[in-house]
Amino acid sequence: MKTISIAIHGGAGTLVKGMMTPELEARYKHDLKVALDVGYTILEQGGTAIDAVEGSVKALEDSPLFNAGKGSVFTATESHEMDASIMDGQTLNAGAVSLISGIKNPISLARDVMEKSEHVFLAGEGAMQFAKEHNYTLEDVSYFYDEFRHKQWLEIKDTDNFQLDHSVKKDSKFGTVGAVACDQHGNIAAATSTGGMTNKKWGRVGDSPMIGAGNYANNKTCAVSCTGSGEFFIRGVVAYDVSCLMEHKGMSLEAASEEVINKRILDIKGDGGLIAVDAKGNIAMPFNTEGMYRASKTSEGDEQIAIYK
Ligand code: ASP
Repeated sequence: MKTISIAIHGGAGTLVKGMMTPELEARYKHDLKVALDVGYTILEQGGTAIDAVEGSVKALEDSPLFNAGKGSVFTATESHEMDASIMDGQTLNAGAVSLISGIKNPISLARDVMEKSEHVFLAGEGAMQFAKEHNYTLEDVSYFYDEFRHKQWLEIKDTDNFQLDHSVKKDSKFGTVGAVACDQHGNIAAATSTGGMTNKKWGRVGDSPMIGAGNYANNKTCAVSCTGSGEFFIRGVVAYDVSCLMEHKGMSLEAASEEVINKRILDIKGDGGLIAVDAKGNIAMPFNTEGMYRASKTSEGDEQIAIYK
């Protein structure tokens, strides 16, 4: 059997000291472990990389600790607008949704866009119409309510400020979630899901649902899921840039990921990180913030669950 591997993230940056208690840290690690195990079990039982990344991201969306699905941040109008994308490295098929609300697991809707429509990216009302036609039921707004997120929003609600989940000034953390996996056939996939930025308006969309920016997978090179300051990750076309460095410069997964996160994106003042796998099951998880909620596991026996550097 080939090496199977999976990596997940729950956002780059971390809670500032004083806000992170040992209990909270244990809860983060617990929920990361649950999500990691969901995906790894799928791979172990011979499942596909695309099923594994969807499974892990759903588990992270169901946790209120991360800014995706339940626990998504509030927009300027006190609502939730979620974005998600998924890509299959074997077929290069991809699906993405943006500005959706009420959907428990945006990543599954993105997968349905990939598999049940002729399109790649559906947004707003149209995406909601598609969900309705595919029998999605809508959760009540109370399902997405989280006191901590609401407080974050109350602090800036009447200003023109928007805040990347927890921005540097306060408790610097981006809470987007993602997963990348390599299955026993050497197929790879990537999935990313987010609530975006606190107090965002005007239909702001970040990198997470953009194929090539926040999410990308290609068996020839790598599968990548990003987290960080979306505007910079879009301009840096980050996920695809890692793939390009591997394809055109022959760089390893590790070297290409490092180059993009700790050089190219830093050069344009972007902060964040990414997780990546290649078709041999190698994993890279670089970040240029204080920490990144992350976990990984391979069939070689390595398992890691970490927050700080
Ligand atoms: N990249 C996401 C966005 O800009 C934020 C994050 O990673 O938390 O929407």
